[in-house]
Amino acid sequence: MRLDIITCLPRLLESPFSDSILKRAQDKKLVEVIIHDLRPFSTNKHRTTDDYAFGGGAGMVMMIEPIDRCISSLKEQRTYDDVIYMSPDGELLTQALANQFSLKKNLILLCGHYKGVDERVREHLITREVSIGDYVLSGGELAAAVLSDAIIRLLPGVLSDETSALTDSFQDGLVAPPVYTRPAEYNGWKVPDVLLSGHEAKIQDWRHEQSLTRTQKRRPNLNKE
Ligand code: SAH
Repeated sequence: MRLDIITCLPRLLESPFSDSILKRAQDKKLVEVIIHDLRPFSTNKHRTTDDYAFGGGAGMVMMIEPIDRCISSLKEQRTYDDVIYMSPDGELLTQALANQFSLKKNLILLCGHYKGVDERVREHLITREVSIGDYVLSGGELAAAVLSDAIIRLLPGVLSDETSALTDSFQDGLVAPPVYTRPAEYNGWKVPDVLLSGHEAKIQDWRHEQSLTRTQKRRPNLNKE
């Protein structure tokens, strides 16, 4: 898989991809993440990528031209499955959506900033819009990092234990059961006996039971959402 992330603030995207699982996935060549700075695609002499909003009002708007030039240059090199704009009013990111994107080959993620992008970008250059939740961030970079993480950890070979992603919350419409590690007793707080029993079938049953009751209690609408 290849992810091309377009931003006017590339430094905001440095650290999420330079550690832990996301870094290893790139080192293992399971995914290629390329960050594109919009600035060089600007045509004016100050290399700006935003301008005042027509009609007035507070906040700058990202211009269509640098974005179009950047996307076009990428499209000349390969075919993209989707060009995604990170947007608070986009399709809400769920595990199901992450699963869907994890099957794609080439994706462009466009990060907005300020008041967002010129509407014509959304009308003509974008194929999908994704929101990471009903709140507003100052830029699309963190949202793009969240979406990328959710996708990349699903790619075969990225997680060391292949079954790990499948036992996470939401994959089967349930939240995950509780987990424990050593010591078996701390301050008198004990790990449930069954987990120390070594009885694989009983452990599986207990975990499933816990998932069910937790889902009921914490996210009763999970399967209806
Ligand atoms: N004026 C816009 C918000 C702009 S926020 C509005 O009211 O809808 C600036 C940028 O941050 C957006 O262009 C988008 O790329 C990103 N962003 C903000 N909140 C987001 C969210 N919940 N999910 C995804 N991207 C978000």
